[in-house]
Amino acid sequence: MLNSVTKKFTDKSTIRQFEFVFYCDCCEKPVVPVTYDFISGFKDKVFLTGDEREARAIIYASDHKKAYERANIEARFELNKCDLCGDMVCDDCIIFDADLNGKICCKSCYEKSKKGE
Ligand SMILES: [Zn+2]
Ligand SMILES: [Zn+2]
Repeated sequence: MLNSVTKKFTDKSTIRQFEFVFYCDCCEKPVVPVTYDFISGFKDKVFLTGDEREARAIIYASDHKKAYERANIEARFELNKCDLCGDMVCDDCIIFDADLNGKICCKSCYEKSKKGE
């Protein structure tokens, strides 16, 4: 599995739905929940044969991986990347400042730069 865009994320996926929640690297606020339905064709069947169950598990695992990759791409668009440390942060944690010469940075980098580090 590829690394999550944010340092922290939660996988809340169930057999019916894939759900991933991404958290701001700076304030850890949950910022981007992404959900996709799991459509296997077996979903609404209550009794599955052993083979069907196995097939569903394989489809589920592969769809789960794809859903996770897509969720990461979506999260990347929703968040802001700090030009200094590369953290992915929410709109509340990103600073636009004249001193940064058109760059953007997260709150913690901004505070560090203000201290003259
Ligand atoms: Zn934040
Ligand atoms: Zn930063």
